[in-house]
Amino acid sequence: MNTVAKEVELPGAFILGAGAVSSKTVGMNAELMPLVVTEAEGKPAINASYFSSINPADGQCLQEKYSDRFSDCDFGLLANLYACEGKPGKVIEVKASRRTGGDSLVTCLRTTLEKNYSDKSLALGGTFVIQKGQAKIHIMPREFSACPLNSNEEVNQWLKHFTVSAPLICQSVLVSRDPGLDLRVEHTHCFSHHGEGGHYYIDTTPDTVEYLGYFLPAEFIYRVDRPKVTHVIGRD
Ligand SMILES: [Zn+2]
Repeated sequence: MNTVAKEVELPGAFILGAGAVSSKTVGMNAELMPLVVTEAEGKPAINASYFSSINPADGQCLQEKYSDRFSDCDFGLLANLYACEGKPGKVIEVKASRRTGGDSLVTCLRTTLEKNYSDKSLALGGTFVIQKGQAKIHIMPREFSACPLNSNEEVNQWLKHFTVSAPLICQSVLVSRDPGLDLRVEHTHCFSHHGEGGHYYIDTTPDTVEYLGYFLPAEFIYRVDRPKVTHVIGRD
């Protein structure tokens, strides 16, 4: 993340988003909830990230504070990161309760932007809290798949799915429309203060769910290390 901050010309950036841990550092696969102030002018980075893995003892979610175990700011494979200066200012407040359709809060935000600004690619980053209710998440297994995963079904078979409870702090990065950069158009990871966290899909309690979020539009979109060969498997 220190390297990414330099690449986007924002050393000392405040970064949030959704990604995977570096398996080189952590020694396994795990979901990363990045929350970092990157290094700048000799000041070291502050890493307040969380990560979630499968607990080998019981097969359940094991959420840990990254800095309790590791001292770097690395991530692995992919991350959707929102980088800002971390200064106070105007933001977009989103309050919602009850879900009446099949789309998640994040998908609703994204498709609403797409409909209302159809000629633009608008990106948002931010944080929302699921204040009441439960949500569906996944956590990758500790081991990489021994065989290639060639379809969304195979990916879903490999992932471990859980239902987790509010309050959940979710970090979202979304873009209304891929501007031709081969992007994952939305990615949200959540953590909590009761030991549950991972990759967020949607709430499972549409009648009682409550959301409160704060978002900011992005000025620029950067694509770092775009793969030469691409596919659309595992992007939900
Ligand atoms: Zn994810």
